[in-house]
Amino acid sequence: MHATVLTLFPGLLEAYLSTSVMGRAVEGGLVEIDLVDLRDYGEGPHRQVDDRPFGGGPGMVLMAEPILRAVEDAREAHEEGARTLFLSPQGRAFDQALARELAAHGPGFVLVCGRYEGIDERALTVLEPEEISVGDFVLSGGEVAAMAVLDATARLVPGVLGHDQSAEEDSFSAEDGILDHPHYTRPAVVRGLEVPEVLRGGNHAAVARWRREQALARTRERRPDLLGGKDEGGGRRCPREP
Ligand code: SAH
Repeated sequence: MHATVLTLFPGLLEAYLSTSVMGRAVEGGLVEIDLVDLRDYGEGPHRQVDDRPFGGGPGMVLMAEPILRAVEDAREAHEEGARTLFLSPQGRAFDQALARELAAHGPGFVLVCGRYEGIDERALTVLEPEEISVGDFVLSGGEVAAMAVLDATARLVPGVLGHDQSAEEDSFSAEDGILDHPHYTRPAVVRGLEVPEVLRGGNHAAVARWRREQALARTRERRPDLLGGKDEGGGRRCPREP
């Protein structure tokens, strides 16, 4: 996986990308993530990257040219065919299916983080990026969203997680895309609450059956939309693959 992130605040991502699962993935060369400081593409002696909005109103807008030049350079640094994604609350919902697609996309992808009021619309008109949202809420910048995309994608790259199965059993990941089952660890009793007996019995088939039932039950309760029932609307967006 090869990703390039364009941001005004690369430091925000550095800590995340050097810690735990992401840190090991980068360190081990399983994923390559290049951070580009948009300020390096700023204009004039002050490396200006933002300006006041035409038409008035509060806040600042990221200028088109610095973004255009930064994305063009980033695309050059990727194999032909890299995808360009602009993080935006107005975009298509990011989900496990898209994470899988990105993890398997050899040429990789370029992530553009907006800030302030957003970016000059003409940058979007020229670049025609895929707009990706991490949820129906507004962040102050694309960096937290970029971290979500990078993390969800990198952990699907073979070898990034400790053993290959751990991603397969996660929510949205089993063949039928349902939620994960509950997990327990020691001690066997916490505040009077016992671990279900079946998990301690050593009967692997029974454990698998129990987990499957639990996963189905909680999916039915929390996300009936994932089960594809026609009568079960569910208010949330559906992360199922077609
Ligand atoms: N005025 C814009 C929001 C700007 S927020 C609007 O209302 O649509 C500043 C930047 O944060 C955005 O350009 C985007 O890159 C990022 N951002 C905010 N919310 C996001 C979300 N839900 N998903 C992805 N990126 C988001």
